[in-house]
Amino acid sequence: MSNSEHCSHSQGVYLAVDLGGTNFRVCSIVLHGNQTFSLTHSKVAVPHALMEATTAYELFAFLAKQIELFLRTHHNDKFEAHLRRPSLQQYLDLGFTFSFPVNQLGINKGKLIRWTKGFDIEEAVGQDVCALLQKELDALNLPVIVAALVNDTVGTLMARSYTSPGKTGTFMGAIFGTGTNGAYVEKLTRVKKMAQIDAESDSASYDKSTGLMIVNTEWGSFDNNLKVLPDTPYDKALDTESVNPGIQMFEKRVSGMFLGEILRRAILALYEHKDPNVAFFRDASSADNDTSSTTTVAQDSPLYKQWGIDTSFLSIVEEDASDHLRITKQTLGKDLGIHAASTEDCVAVKTLVHAIGKRAARLAAVALGAVVISTNKLQEDDIVDIGVDGSLVEYYPGFEDYIREALREIPEIGLEGDKRIRIGLAKDGSGLGAALIALVASKAEERGEA
Ligand code: ADP
Ligand code: MG
Repeated sequence: MSNSEHCSHSQGVYLAVDLGGTNFRVCSIVLHGNQTFSLTHSKVAVPHALMEATTAYELFAFLAKQIELFLRTHHNDKFEAHLRRPSLQQYLDLGFTFSFPVNQLGINKGKLIRWTKGFDIEEAVGQDVCALLQKELDALNLPVIVAALVNDTVGTLMARSYTSPGKTGTFMGAIFGTGTNGAYVEKLTRVKKMAQIDAESDSASYDKSTGLMIVNTEWGSFDNNLKVLPDTPYDKALDTESVNPGIQMFEKRVSGMFLGEILRRAILALYEHKDPNVAFFRDASSADNDTSSTTTVAQDSPLYKQWGIDTSFLSIVEEDASDHLRITKQTLGKDLGIHAASTEDCVAVKTLVHAIGKRAARLAAVALGAVVISTNKLQEDDIVDIGVDGSLVEYYPGFEDYIREALREIPEIGLEGDKRIRIGLAKDGSGLGAALIALVASKAEERGEA
């Protein structure tokens, strides 16, 4: 069956998949209305080899395979029925959350502009990512149609709107996961790109009835030429040795993929420091009773390897309130092969962690604050509702507090503005959001609008 012959049918069950950067999530969602839904999901880490594969096929065939596994496990009835007697009625609409910069050309069509977050598959750039996925779904004979292409920030915004309390609509969706990005509701009159499209063709096919449009900011690439962003030797080296030097410079200081790597470079530099009084992990005669042995850094320690420290390590250290930072000491040993670190070293590691995490959160506040200010939102509404998602904001202790602390320091926001900014975690947001958008898309198609 060719792509254009697919016709979608809403059956109450929607599929959503989410390629976020680190993980690939598949979920099915039943929407009950009344702000409730039930969700079944699976998650798999994307193998590193596929992130830098030679062909787009390798990645997208892997994604389709995961969808097949999910269907076999959770919706085998639909799957078997389709194999016995293929029928359009059995097709499931799928919302594809693809969280990389895309030139979106239609509800289920968008060409990849560039890879980010460590992905580098040259062949896929410029291609329609929905068609790439549909092709591999069809090759596996799966009863699934890619009904909508969704950015995770937009999915998060949608999900938060569906679940957030009260009448206030959600204003922004923001991600602090592997990468960082945000989307917000803008007045159509302020979207210059649309004015341009209107001028070029008199049949621009987008809905103008609300006077609003969701804008995906791609703020990960804010200030790529570093006019205002802080730039330490560790930031510089991280960037130079990344697959996309000079790009996503904001993201490289803010999001989960990078914070661990910044820390690794800082710790390594201090470990190799010439001055033994400054250097890390040299303190053989520690005053602690429990660390009388000399600190050792294993030869194969991840400290020596690019991306060797995961950002979850920072969360553990930031949270550590144990005596003599025992937990940090243990984690240094277990995760990094750095054994018997002194308490003094652990305190120093914690200071670095705190600086990196807090800097990230304060920069995150810059992005959020800038959008709030530029849209005059605080002047126009009582409450500014923001949905956030991503492991960093979910798990890093105090991330939201540091964001708020910084927002209060911005004169245009201040104490009063901060009180009216509501930030809520939209857990599983991009999955639910993608399912909601797939639903809207399939309804529109049934009405013959798409
Ligand atoms: P994705 O970006 O693929 O949607 P996540 O939102 O789960 O996935 O974000 C994954 C990123 O979050 C990774 O870069 C990982 O290092 C980081 N991360 C995972 N667990 C934690 C944690 N406990 N604290 C801070 N960061 C974390
Ligand atoms: Mg995500």
